[in-house]
Amino acid sequence: MTNRLCVAALGTALSLVFSAPAIAHEADVNRATLERDVTILSADNMEGREAGTRGHARAAGYVAGRYAAVGLEPFGDDGTYFQAVPMLKYERAETGNSLSIEGMEGLTMWEDYYLSGGSQDESGSITGEVVFIGYGLDIEGRDDFEGLDLEGKIVLRVYGGPEGIDTEEAAHYRSTLSARASERGAIGSLLLYTPALGELYEWDRLVEMSRHDSSMTWIDKDGAPYSAAPNIRASGALNEAASRAILEGLDFDYDALVAAEATDAKVFPSFATGRTATIQYNSHFERLDTPNVVGLLPGSDPEMADQFVVLTAHLDHVGIQPTEEEGDDEIYNGAMDNAVGIASMIEVARLLEEHPPRRPVLFVALTAEEQGLIGSSYHAANPDLPEGASLVANVNLDMPISTYVFSDVVAFGAPRSNLYPQVQAATAEYGLKLSPDPQPEQGFFTRSDQYSYVRKGVPAVYLDIGWGNGGEAAQEEFLGSHYHQASDQVELVDFEALERFTGVNYSIARNIANMAERPAWNEGDFFGESFAGE
Ligand SMILES: [Zn+2]
Repeated sequence: MTNRLCVAALGTALSLVFSAPAIAHEADVNRATLERDVTILSADNMEGREAGTRGHARAAGYVAGRYAAVGLEPFGDDGTYFQAVPMLKYERAETGNSLSIEGMEGLTMWEDYYLSGGSQDESGSITGEVVFIGYGLDIEGRDDFEGLDLEGKIVLRVYGGPEGIDTEEAAHYRSTLSARASERGAIGSLLLYTPALGELYEWDRLVEMSRHDSSMTWIDKDGAPYSAAPNIRASGALNEAASRAILEGLDFDYDALVAAEATDAKVFPSFATGRTATIQYNSHFERLDTPNVVGLLPGSDPEMADQFVVLTAHLDHVGIQPTEEEGDDEIYNGAMDNAVGIASMIEVARLLEEHPPRRPVLFVALTAEEQGLIGSSYHAANPDLPEGASLVANVNLDMPISTYVFSDVVAFGAPRSNLYPQVQAATAEYGLKLSPDPQPEQGFFTRSDQYSYVRKGVPAVYLDIGWGNGGEAAQEEFLGSHYHQASDQVELVDFEALERFTGVNYSIARNIANMAERPAWNEGDFFGESFAGE
């Protein structure tokens, strides 16, 4: 699970008649295999599996061996399981990053603000007037850009969005704000720290996450780094005091912003602040290759041979993060994030292989999820399928917090397409309740790899486990104490829970790969309308 809350950056009525999926009893999931795979993938010698490191390469080799053992065919480059993803890695340099704002003296990096450059230039400087754009929305009834000239400007923005927008669409709008600002000519972006953001993260936590941040993007066939917001050269965030100071003396000041944010409609004016800011940025660029690991289970029905279902789980995690203290554990093992997803996906492959479904199924152990869904973005754009074939559905497995025996699940994305009845049948088979998203403000739908496929028009489901049966407290404990920490280790995993998670994902994958009708978005669905046919 990536922590990119874009801080640096249901329920449709079912009208279609659907074919009832085959009723089968629970799959015979091999718990010992799950335990072995998670243990090996999260061991210290995998060095936290950061994309582009030898630890990740070692883990990728292990996954390829497991694919071979369960009978998947190689579906990467040149008859191997590995699809090389050409990447640019860009990391903030120790020095040369600073922000100055007219009328605000002595701002200090990591205290008052943090910032980093983008993938366009290794170092540089931008200067522009700061323009407040609120949430940067341009939707029915609300245009935060109205009357503004953003050409060459640095936008000042707020995390969140108004009430009343579908939560998954809201997450999509949040994650595409930079792209909208870029399209309108903005060159930089600064995020304000407000109470709504404070409810999610304390400032110190944001600083800590940003300090450990390295970014990547994939390189296209012309050698250009991919960017969704190519004009934005640098972006950063201000702490509460600096957020207050930058609005001081204006008609709409920090207190007015906080008051407006506390209302449901959250209506803000958009305006030029009259202040000019200069952002200096300095990064280290590194070109590297890091693989997606791709295996194929051929389908049994020649009529459906051109309809590929793709199962995904990210293999990478955040690597080794040195601390000042001697003797600290510096290896971020990523057992829950996402060794469990990989182990579960491999076991699903083994179970499917016993009774091959009608459609071909690809299994992709994705790279560079943590840097912003990069491996999946590349794979969704370059699936390397036979002529005439396409990806028709995605099932993504990412960080089920398997520390307790869960009783419900959340099926992100499923109600948007005809995958839903297949998911409903699978969860019913396991006696699991389907719950609505308990944390819509987290925007999980756009924070894992299914979103890369959705953006290519592919209907997707991402199953997470729910808050029932003590889940809320258990998940809070994991997210508060172990998420993206060195302590995310195999000891935390309840393998009974993971076994059940694997079984239900097996049923979902099997049902989708066997469904009679072609997977399709519901008529008029927001994501289907936005992306299908692209
Ligand atoms: Zn993560």
